[in-house]
Amino acid sequence: MSALHLRGVVLPEGEERDVWVDDEGYVRDDPIQGADTVLDGGWLLPGLVDAHCHVGLDEHGGVDAATTESQAVASRDAGALLLRDAGVPVDTHWVDERPDLPRIIRAGRHIARPKRYIRNYGEEIEPEQLVAEVERQAARGDGWVKLVGDWIDRDAGDLATCWPADVAAAAIARAHELGVRVTAHCFGEQSVAELVGAGIDCIEHGTGLTDDVIADMARRGTALVPTRVQLDNFPEYAAQAGAKFPAYAAHMRDLHARCDAVLGSAVEAGVPVYAGTDAGGVLPHGLIAREVLALHEQVGMSAGAALGAASWSARSWLGRPGLGEGEPADLVAYDHDSRADLRALAHPRLVVLRGRVVA
Ligand SMILES: [Zn+2]
Repeated sequence: MSALHLRGVVLPEGEERDVWVDDEGYVRDDPIQGADTVLDGGWLLPGLVDAHCHVGLDEHGGVDAATTESQAVASRDAGALLLRDAGVPVDTHWVDERPDLPRIIRAGRHIARPKRYIRNYGEEIEPEQLVAEVERQAARGDGWVKLVGDWIDRDAGDLATCWPADVAAAAIARAHELGVRVTAHCFGEQSVAELVGAGIDCIEHGTGLTDDVIADMARRGTALVPTRVQLDNFPEYAAQAGAKFPAYAAHMRDLHARCDAVLGSAVEAGVPVYAGTDAGGVLPHGLIAREVLALHEQVGMSAGAALGAASWSARSWLGRPGLGEGEPADLVAYDHDSRADLRALAHPRLVVLRGRVVA
């Protein structure tokens, strides 16, 4: 592996400088003799982050290693070098041995209620098993556990929360004792209100946020990963369920119709928002640039904040470094300034992972 030299405007600081990468893949401030200049002019971002995707999953459940690899490569080639996996039924730790594949922060397997989630995805348990299951999934993950906070209850004919609030609070407290953060899938109003009140660390989707809960999240610093592109599937879920579950269908249509206003209120209130594609269920991997654009154009984040939500801000939230001296050289280079036009983000010129040019 050879040393690299890149020159460009490094974000978020916005100053033009040289970035040197030593032959072990770490960023150095001092010039390295004989380094291979791979970029002379352009813009450099700390490796992009997809804060909600699923590597090793498709719409039917877990997938084989070859499919898992192609998903990871699609993310990587789009510049997403750090993936927060929001739940998969298969063990993907073998990816960690592959220097050419993105880094993954896993949340173990989704924790769901029996017959209250997508088939073959979750570990399906009753509330009295929740604390023990959180302990189990904490051991399988990389510092995160994922709950399915709400789903359709076919008897009620509508979205309904999956866990009694006191049980969820006990499970979250147990995770925190273990040093693990908890996130939850929440579409409706009740689950998100109760889980935020119970001290959860992050909410996925969050379409059911009310002003009170948004204020609570802002006060507590609870993160939000809206997966805005994915939310456009709500009308289809409504159409599929419509004849049998009209209340659910109406609820989903309403949540979709209001989602940009609701998510925009969260941004305005100062809730920390991060970019996640939800790739691996219905959507393909590699859509991080599209999600960033949606956070800007539809949810109303500034271009710089939307960019940070998929790069430096998300890295800091996940405890991963940027491009300082001695940090691993995970970076993406562009010909154009994505702050001026976020569409440039979809066209990386160069992707460097662990100090190697991988795309
Ligand atoms: Zn997901």
